[in-house]
Amino acid sequence: MSTQQEILQRYGAAMMNAFGTPKRVFTEGDGVHLVDADGKRYTDLLAGIAVNSLGHNHPAVTGVITEQLHRLGHISNFFASEPQIRLAERLDAAAGEEQPGKVFFTNSGSEANEAAFKITRLTGRTRIIAMEGSFHGRTMGSLALTHTEKYRAPFEPLPGDVTFVPFGDTDALSAAVDDTVAAVLVEPVQGENGVLPAPDGFLRAAREITARHGALLWIDEVQTGIGRCGELLLHRADGVTADLVTVAKGLGAGFPVGACIATGRTADLLGPGSHGSTFGGNPVAAAAGNAVLDALEGGVLDNVREVGDWFAAAVENLGLPLVDHVRGRGLLRGIVLTKDVAPAFVDAALEAGWVCNAPRPNVIRIAPPLIITRSDLEPFVAVLGDLLDHSRG
Ligand SMILES: *Cc1c(COP(=O)(O)O)cnc(C)c1O
Repeated sequence: MSTQQEILQRYGAAMMNAFGTPKRVFTEGDGVHLVDADGKRYTDLLAGIAVNSLGHNHPAVTGVITEQLHRLGHISNFFASEPQIRLAERLDAAAGEEQPGKVFFTNSGSEANEAAFKITRLTGRTRIIAMEGSFHGRTMGSLALTHTEKYRAPFEPLPGDVTFVPFGDTDALSAAVDDTVAAVLVEPVQGENGVLPAPDGFLRAAREITARHGALLWIDEVQTGIGRCGELLLHRADGVTADLVTVAKGLGAGFPVGACIATGRTADLLGPGSHGSTFGGNPVAAAAGNAVLDALEGGVLDNVREVGDWFAAAVENLGLPLVDHVRGRGLLRGIVLTKDVAPAFVDAALEAGWVCNAPRPNVIRIAPPLIITRSDLEPFVAVLGDLLDHSRG
């Protein structure tokens, strides 16, 4: 029995079966590479689901986290630390130039959405319009906003008053929103729904419709934000200012940190006692977030745009019969297949030393560290056809 098989046997006995049986046990990571418990090396094209934005063991992150931990690790939200204020100021600036914002820090994307959900209730309205195909997390509140029936059904009743409309359908959205709606919730790209981008102009239309009815526009950038799609916040590239923006995944480069950013009048809806978090915004998490923003400003954003566009074109130019097209933005890409062989592809790729995943049966998700280079990806493009052939069954 291999070392990995031994460890996975213990996993099965000690861990709840929420994730199925893991495919590998990893012991080390460096840059865009991972090493498993049997010593095999992989290139990481998933980055812990769009989380390890600077790859593994990046000196800027490990250095800053270590230093902050030596200085001061945790104090609770009865007290303040300068790193958290600095991170909040930077996120506020990213979310709203026109209307200044304020931040509530969390430890995850679901919690960021919980905070935003609670803020919508403080408008005095309760109705939320969310999108078909959406994913907003697994806590009871964020699950209520998530469309996937099989995730929801076992846990009903969920917090109510959520209506789903077809993603990208401006007419349906316009018909659904009236003066009783508290907020409209949209992902700029539906990552879990197979890296499906909103159609051009949809976010702007959502902004106009919500403004007309005094409803909030809430954009979930947990997966798309913090550089993943080549922008600090993707919706800002459409010239849209949202009332609520949620971020998490890539913000701490692997350290758990999330944030709910509220702009304009929405920024002052939470008052003392209305919400809380023991760990949220602790100095180490904030230091990690600041290190990531420093790196993005220092050239990583340019890399995301350049390598992401090159990769999508390189895959499409292969002209593979099983590849229909490549969608997404920056380094959040879905390779859309003509057959439902993405799960088989993921297994074949793993055997060959490439980590990726299949959010839909016909979509391979590529969400590598944002520091990945063309030369890291060229060998993957070169073997893609062979790996797909092995996945045909
Ligand atoms: C991952 C994700 C979440 C949930 O984040 P967790 O950190 O897993 O709680 C919410 N929204 C979107 C768009 C996501 O991709």
